[in-house]
Amino acid sequence: MKIIYHKKELIEVQKALTNQGKTIGFVPTMGALHQGHLELIKCSKQENEVTFCSIFVNPTQFNNPDDLKKYPRTLDADCKLLATVGCDYVFAPAAEEMYDELPVLFFDFGHIEKIMEGKFRPGHFSGVGIVVSKLFHLVSPQKAYFGMKDLQQVAVIKRLVKDLNFDLQIIPCETVRETDGLAMSSRNRRLSEKGRKLAPQVYASLQLAKEVLSKTLNVQLTKETVNKHFELFPDFKLEYVEIIDFESFKIIETYDPQRITAICTANFLEGVRLIDNIVF
Ligand code: AMP
Repeated sequence: MKIIYHKKELIEVQKALTNQGKTIGFVPTMGALHQGHLELIKCSKQENEVTFCSIFVNPTQFNNPDDLKKYPRTLDADCKLLATVGCDYVFAPAAEEMYDELPVLFFDFGHIEKIMEGKFRPGHFSGVGIVVSKLFHLVSPQKAYFGMKDLQQVAVIKRLVKDLNFDLQIIPCETVRETDGLAMSSRNRRLSEKGRKLAPQVYASLQLAKEVLSKTLNVQLTKETVNKHFELFPDFKLEYVEIIDFESFKIIETYDPQRITAICTANFLEGVRLIDNIVF
């Protein structure tokens, strides 16, 4: 496995691989890798001849400077993990390498980003769109792999690819969970022992919500059930719970069991922001 720190070298490697006719799969990450990331690498390995992973804590997607400062950075351990699953190349640029100047460009993803993560993290998806565009240009993959844990991000990236004619396929991959249901996340390691024990309540609330919605078809009642659930656990600060139509990515007021639906939530626990969703 080769680790690349500079754009120039990445472009040279990419060109050589393309000249050899190799298919390239790409997994963009911010590091502090866990099994969820490794599953994306494994999917890419199955479908492509060469797999690239990028590790870059992208400053332009953090609207909270404290979150950026506290984001775990574990490059050596990450590279060891990536080697175990047979990743071929790691691109790990410094912030100045990616941004010799801060971009003046700003993306607005319209209705997709007026809700949930977009609403509570202003500018976040613009930053995601910019860094992912830069990385797509550098790596030029045929396929890029994203986790369904960040469901709204998948919708944003699909739209980015469509609007800007990126010649690649976006492959969404299932959320990988701990045995107690907690969605794996780099931020989980900031939880105390007590917080870690409580954290599975996020997914438990989504499972409960799915059950209530399927039985009653009542969107309002379902959201209230989640709110009430967290009244039992005062350590959580529920930021939002929304029920959306999977295809249009719009919030729904009435549930149609024929349509694919997602219940999405963000929750603070010990100052750590946990997001999760359930799709059915
Ligand atoms: P991040 O490093 O958090 O920016 O995540 C990099 C990629 O890994 C994104 O596409 C995430 O959606 C994906 N990812 C993060 N956590 C998980 C998980 N638990 N299961 C599947 N994919 C994940």
